[in-house]
Amino acid sequence: MKLHEHWRGRARYTVFDSAYGDGRRINDLIDAWRADPQRPRHLHLIALARGLQPGFHRIPQPDAGVTLDLLAAPLEAALAQLQAQLDSIRLDDVEGAGFARPLARLTALHARLHGASLDAEQRAALQAQGFVFDGEADAIFASRKPRLPTTPAPERRALVLGAGMAGCAAAARLCARGWQVTLVERHAQVAMEASGNLAGIFMPLLSRDDNMPTRLTRAAYLYALRYWAALGGVGRAFEGEVCGVLQLARDAGHAAVSRAIAADGALPHDFARWLEPQQATALLGLPAPEGGWLFPQGGWARPGSVCAAMLASCGESLTTRFGAGDVQLEREGDGWLARGADGAALGRAPTVILASGAGARRMAQTRDLPLQALRGQVTHLAPGFAPQLPLVLCREAYLTPSANGVTCAGATYDLDDDPHLRAASQQENVERLRALVSDPRAAEGAPLAGRVGFRCVAPDRLPLVGRLPDFDAAGATERLRDVPRHAGLHGLLGYASRGLIWAPLAAELLAAQLEGEPLPLEAALVDALDPARFVLRARRSSRTPTADDEA
Ligand SMILES: Cc1cc2nc3c(=O)[nH]c(=O)nc-3n(C[C@H](O)[C@H](O)[C@H](O)COP(=O)(O)OP(=O)(O)OC[C@H]3O[C@@H](n4cnc5c(N)ncnc54)[C@H](O)[C@@H]3O)c2cc1C
Repeated sequence: MKLHEHWRGRARYTVFDSAYGDGRRINDLIDAWRADPQRPRHLHLIALARGLQPGFHRIPQPDAGVTLDLLAAPLEAALAQLQAQLDSIRLDDVEGAGFARPLARLTALHARLHGASLDAEQRAALQAQGFVFDGEADAIFASRKPRLPTTPAPERRALVLGAGMAGCAAAARLCARGWQVTLVERHAQVAMEASGNLAGIFMPLLSRDDNMPTRLTRAAYLYALRYWAALGGVGRAFEGEVCGVLQLARDAGHAAVSRAIAADGALPHDFARWLEPQQATALLGLPAPEGGWLFPQGGWARPGSVCAAMLASCGESLTTRFGAGDVQLEREGDGWLARGADGAALGRAPTVILASGAGARRMAQTRDLPLQALRGQVTHLAPGFAPQLPLVLCREAYLTPSANGVTCAGATYDLDDDPHLRAASQQENVERLRALVSDPRAAEGAPLAGRVGFRCVAPDRLPLVGRLPDFDAAGATERLRDVPRHAGLHGLLGYASRGLIWAPLAAELLAAQLEGEPLPLEAALVDALDPARFVLRARRSSRTPTADDEA
């Protein structure tokens, strides 16, 4: 049976290829899909690729109906971390037979497999898992019922609460999938709270052991760069500049660790480049005594303009209800009703996404989450008060290039809830700026100017993405999948200091979960973002230790 005969009559068709190679095979599939009037609404292509940084990479496509995931991992490890249901599988020059079991876990009933180069041991391993061969190369999976990675939402209709980076990205990724979205917001326009800064910086994170936050941040950063390019480009679709970010080393120890990371040779040149002191000094035109990392694709963007660009991409599918005051949610039948501060009904939907930033701490459904509001004050400097830099400079603090006559220096981390500009916070910013640019007189006499915002921060500094847990109903739960959840209620929260890059990937992940699509991230990383992790942690910390805990 030809592929197009196999995919006909389906809404979604997912193909796995063990070798992306030069991309020709995948491109041929996309061409065949385009040419078929009876094509499935969605074609999802997943392929193992070399030459990318480790991890899963979702690559935006010009066709809204096509999704491409490139997995940079060995076959068995990639399959173990993949959450998908595969309809067609191609195995090319694969090694060993350990992949058969994780592959079977992902395979839909009656899926087709093509593996011309499989050896007898590999065929036997696949047969043992339920693949029935018709000759040497082709098999059909005949083992059990299909299982989607997540349960799709009952209808493509959602209420999104909060029109900052998180909510606008959610609206964009859902509308791109044909959802009807009502976006509700207490203010009269987008990005009036944490997302209201003139400039946010974007850059990746590095670590010696490539730990979980590093892998997540890399995935978010790379996806954001690709997503913004698809939106029309930084500096074109929205305000900002891919001017590069230079992160100076804090001290000799930090520089030594950085050199060791650079010496591994794993980082592509356009992602991160270690600059020795003289190179960094030459680039910056200022002293950089310990050297630093250059992130050539990093830069700054005005979050409010990114929000506007994301909403512009939603088209007719988006309804906005702004200026609603403090919105509350009520359960109504099988769905949710959002009411504005005056009690007026703003919208109803079976699915709600809470993207309310620090405001989530005051909502009944999210009050139990361990979220903190961390005050931050940014200082705005007019020309003459700060050096004019060709790129973003950072260490403990950051300094942006001048845009619209303003250079941003920031930002403080405070535990109080004072919404007003403070001279003491500005002084803190100025002192850090002076250390950063090695100029004890920088920003001398600068008038008090800037902006205060509140970051929404979880104890592990990672975002919360997915179905929200019901703390009251949670009993003796040990596994994420057993934690009781609020029906139809999802969160996009806790973006802390990296909202620009978390917003696109987190929204894409949540939209994929709501559709029952293959997920764009490794399972371990998806779990690390699950809001229910705090139910398990609360239980573990309240539990009496047993002998098992010491094993
Ligand atoms: C000083 C400072 C500097 C920062 N620098 C950077 C940076 O350089 N790079 C970077 O990536 N990030 C930076 N951040 C972080 C970034 O700004 C945030 O991560 C991001 O803006 C969070 O977006 P959000 O949509 O989650 O929250 P918000 O932008 O706060 O949006 C939440 C929205 O929900 C609305 N809302 C809440 N409750 C209700 C309710 N009950 N009813 C109706 N509406 C409600 C709010 O009005 C708000 O509009 C910085 C933050 C601060 C404060």
